[in-house]
Amino acid sequence: MIKANDPSLQSWIPVSEHSDFPIQNIPFGVAKTKNGNVFVATRIGDTVIDLFAVAQLDHFQVIDAEVFNSCRLNDFMLLGKQITRKVRDEISDIFNSSNETAKNHEELKLALYDASDVDMLMPVQVGDYTDFYSSEQHAYNVGCMFRDPNNALLPNWKYIPVGYHGRASSIVVSGTPVRRPKGQQKLNPDEPPTFGPSVRLDFELEMAFVTYQGKPLGDSISTTEADDYIFGMCLFNDWSARDLQAWEYVPLGPFLAKNFASSISPWIVTLDALEPFRVPGPVQDPKVFPYLEYHGDKHIDINLEVAIQPEGSSEKVVSRSNYKHMYWNMNQQLAHHTVNGCDINVGDMMASGTISGNDESAYGSMLEISWKGTKPVQMPDGSERRFIHDNDTVIMRGYAEKKGIRVGFGEVSSKVLPTN
Ligand code: MN
Repeated sequence: MIKANDPSLQSWIPVSEHSDFPIQNIPFGVAKTKNGNVFVATRIGDTVIDLFAVAQLDHFQVIDAEVFNSCRLNDFMLLGKQITRKVRDEISDIFNSSNETAKNHEELKLALYDASDVDMLMPVQVGDYTDFYSSEQHAYNVGCMFRDPNNALLPNWKYIPVGYHGRASSIVVSGTPVRRPKGQQKLNPDEPPTFGPSVRLDFELEMAFVTYQGKPLGDSISTTEADDYIFGMCLFNDWSARDLQAWEYVPLGPFLAKNFASSISPWIVTLDALEPFRVPGPVQDPKVFPYLEYHGDKHIDINLEVAIQPEGSSEKVVSRSNYKHMYWNMNQQLAHHTVNGCDINVGDMMASGTISGNDESAYGSMLEISWKGTKPVQMPDGSERRFIHDNDTVIMRGYAEKKGIRVGFGEVSSKVLPTN
């Protein structure tokens, strides 16, 4: 077992009962204080910990303090899985309730901040971003709406973890407002296209994983090796303009409907911290190619929800889904991505695709929830939503829980601003 995952551990930092951040989590992020200090951080309960300051007090055996004197996690991730795992174990030791020396170390307390006193920044310099399409229910729903319920899945879907190369520059951290995109739409089949603000702005409930440095160009990563190349995960809202998408996607796929923004939660929860929550995946029929076969439980049970909060109103939860609903797991996605020799680099981000469960309360986009706009959702203020309105805030949350230990992601929250 990974030492820091021991369910019996407790911290000398207070952790409330339903916190996403017990000492068994120890996620990594980048924080900025009110007076402008930026550092690599972790979080226990509602306390954000400046790891650069902790490292300068010589608490770490395996790492140079300077790696935490950074505005991104990339230098830390470049050290690879063996080192980052040891550092997480060492952080666990420092903040373990039985560590009397650390508990009474006055200088160490200067490294602790209340979460409300720091801003969380983009945790990773994302080099390349790939978006998969790996939830069967989502692919089925979209196929039903736009093609034929009897042939909803395209013939390749159960053979290939379908994906496309997205845009890294517009991935933003939770709290960053998202401007409604403008573009071309063809809303009426009998009329020419029009240009203007998107009228079908949607979220996509996804999770993403962040990679360590991969192998050289020309090499591949197997499903067995994949765990060693995945640093951790975050929540991922893959904003989508459905009207732009429907008109532009033939023949080369998603473009401006997708690249205007994707929002992520600020804490990267390590794959190590998620190990206790592994579950079996679905039976894959037809049998997959040998390079996509895998051993052991590679899916993860993570409860997910999406809420919409109209301006000046309380929020409404519009979806409750789970990451375990994926057909293709991360190991298969990474093996497929590299099977042709494509290389991956430290800080690459790979998103799951919209995660929809079998029940309609578990659909991961407004496209599905409102069934192409035919079934509006009631908001607490009496208004209706088919898609996302200006000044709405969309909030996604996620956590894994087993035997009283909860490891969560916090949230990704973004407000939609009108087109300028
Ligand atoms: Mn997507």
